[in-house]
Amino acid sequence: MINKNFDELNLNKKVFRAIEDMGFEKPSSIQAEAIPAIIDGKDVIAQSQTGTGKTLAFGAPIISNILNKEEVKNNIQALVLTPTRELALQVTEELRRIAKHARLKIVPIFGGQSIEMQLRDLKRGANIVVGTPGRIIDHMNRGSLKLQEVEYLVVDEADEMLNMGFIDEVESIIKETNSDRQTVLFSATMPQQVKNLAYKYMKKDLLHISIVKKSLTVDKIDQYYIQCKSKSKVEALCRVLDYDNTDGVIIFCRTKKGVDELVEALQAKGYNVEGMHGDMGQNQRLNSLKKFKESILDILVATDVAARGIDVQNVSHVINYDIPQDLESYVHRIGRTGRAEREGIAYTLINPKEQKIIRQIENFTKSSIKKKEIPTLEDIMDKKCDSLVESLWENLEGKDYKKFLPIVEGLQKEGNLVHISAALMAMLFEKEVSNKYEEDIAEEESYNRLFLTVGKKDNLNIKSLLTFIDNNAGVKSSEIGDIDILDKFCFMDVSENHARKIIEKANNKKLNGRSVRIEFANRGRN
Ligand code: ADP
Ligand code: MG
Repeated sequence: MINKNFDELNLNKKVFRAIEDMGFEKPSSIQAEAIPAIIDGKDVIAQSQTGTGKTLAFGAPIISNILNKEEVKNNIQALVLTPTRELALQVTEELRRIAKHARLKIVPIFGGQSIEMQLRDLKRGANIVVGTPGRIIDHMNRGSLKLQEVEYLVVDEADEMLNMGFIDEVESIIKETNSDRQTVLFSATMPQQVKNLAYKYMKKDLLHISIVKKSLTVDKIDQYYIQCKSKSKVEALCRVLDYDNTDGVIIFCRTKKGVDELVEALQAKGYNVEGMHGDMGQNQRLNSLKKFKESILDILVATDVAARGIDVQNVSHVINYDIPQDLESYVHRIGRTGRAEREGIAYTLINPKEQKIIRQIENFTKSSIKKKEIPTLEDIMDKKCDSLVESLWENLEGKDYKKFLPIVEGLQKEGNLVHISAALMAMLFEKEVSNKYEEDIAEEESYNRLFLTVGKKDNLNIKSLLTFIDNNAGVKSSEIGDIDILDKFCFMDVSENHARKIIEKANNKKLNGRSVRIEFANRGRN
């Protein structure tokens, strides 16, 4: 990672504040390189893996540039092309977060949504349009989308876009924009087709930023991933902490807020844990670190930045509560265990959609990451009882227990010693396992994402959505995974079978007076 902070990137103050609000501590490598270049007006090709923050890498500088102008004009100044509508929506949401303190209209345009609604949105004026090529061409042909004044053009996921056969559409859109525009192209890989596109339409002095990593090896660390629903992450984490014999655990979260929330949740369950991140004073951080080193503190929850450079021995477990920002930081994180000839264990918690990131990490580290099942409550009970019995025998080899003999002899007169011992075990068990477990968290099968044409604007909330699905398709809320409700749409994860059932039974049924279209999110192309 390049050692720069967000305040060194010349971002507009409003953008900087929004990034602070998001709780991001450091720019990712691609952000540290691309942001200043784009602010400088350069055409940029940026290449880096999925999940490295490419949206912010183009969104923050472009929004900064727009805000830095004397007056923000009421026309389309930036156009972002994405290959799928789901990405169009995701990018729109992220750009809106970046523009949170500014008054910019950011409008998504893609097939599947009623064209009238988009026409209305466009009429009201848009500063940034994010869309899929097919529908953008559609609007160009109707004359409802004027691109001549577009000063910033972003082709996001260019490789994916061309794989999907959008080359002609992309070219006709580019030709429609202002020829003085600034063009940035983001891609995870650089096939010839993408290069051709770049050389044809970008300025000759374009900058090629490539954050492609050499592979690194991680020996002596047993690596596992644990798949669970997002809402069961804390529970899964606690079960692992209670099941394994841990001796020093570092847990990584992606944001400062994430650290705070997890620390609070774990403390409430009685774990001996503290957090470390950039907003905490130096003294506080050193203090936590000292306690952790001296084994007074069992668990440290940290962001990557706060953890950088800390050299702690005796870490038995590294747990990626959130998947790392980039592949390199995975290696940095798990490198904290398994030092000095000791074995270490690394766990990474993922949701089913993050499976592919595990594969990428395996390729990058040339090592294997095995699947680990979440321990069941019986597993934990058995394990803890075994270890209680073991320490009981150990204790009997020493002398300490002898001073309690008179008390136990007294107890023997009053009750059954077997029952009394069992009660003592129960008390110890209670102390050992600090957590009150939630009901069983069965792991989910691989999920499909559904796209529904109903959203916040229709007064949709999770409850009304679940009721709608249950009433029409008979699929209960317990079968449904993550739900994202956006302005006019929502997405929902369900297993393949349930997804089919929902489409079959609930498609075009009415919710809050409007008929709702339901489709597989990833199967519509534009
Ligand atoms: P990519 O386009 O490279 O796949 P995204 O732009 O979708 O990646 O970002 C992935 C996730 O990382 C998003 O949730 C985003 O909000 C988050 N993110 C972006 N930049 C940072 C950062 N500097 N620190 C922490 N999280 C970040
Ligand atoms: Mg992206």
